[in-house]
Amino acid sequence: MSRSGDASTGADLERICREHSLPLTAQRRIVFEALAARPVHPTVDEIWEKVRRTMPEISRTTVYRILETFTRLRAVRKVSHPGAVTRYESRTSRHHHLLCLRCGRMEDLDDPALDSLALPGRETGFRVEDYSIQFRGLCSRCAGPPQPRPRKRGPTAHRGKKPERPR
Ligand SMILES: [Zn+2]
Ligand SMILES: [Zn+2]
Repeated sequence: MSRSGDASTGADLERICREHSLPLTAQRRIVFEALAARPVHPTVDEIWEKVRRTMPEISRTTVYRILETFTRLRAVRKVSHPGAVTRYESRTSRHHHLLCLRCGRMEDLDDPALDSLALPGRETGFRVEDYSIQFRGLCSRCAGPPQPRPRKRGPTAHRGKKPERPR
């Protein structure tokens, strides 16, 4: 059992593959290693690009299939948001995400308060297995340095407030 907050490791992968009688081939191992390295939430293409440096003959489809297999075995987790490319991560324990809407960068967020939210009740008939909160916005690079807020300059915004001068 992996400790909370840990990513799956090579040892976890070996165990999971053994449990499912899945041979841990050189291709599977290298794909996992590329995923487990930074950046933490790579896309298929990012993983493929990295893997090709040491294994030039590997196809994108193979990388994709390996990632899907790992996801099914829960050695890897898919992080998706609507309308965007799928990202993968080796960290399968509960955590949350900060997603930049401009550059697509996704960072992990750990917050014990978010880990212990009240789950939907029994009356919903839904059994929650896991959840992850995603905050969408702009990352520090895309948001840039904090801008001084421009003053509201409505045409009549201040005029009405001027006290009338008694003559
Ligand atoms: Zn960004
Ligand atoms: Zn994550």
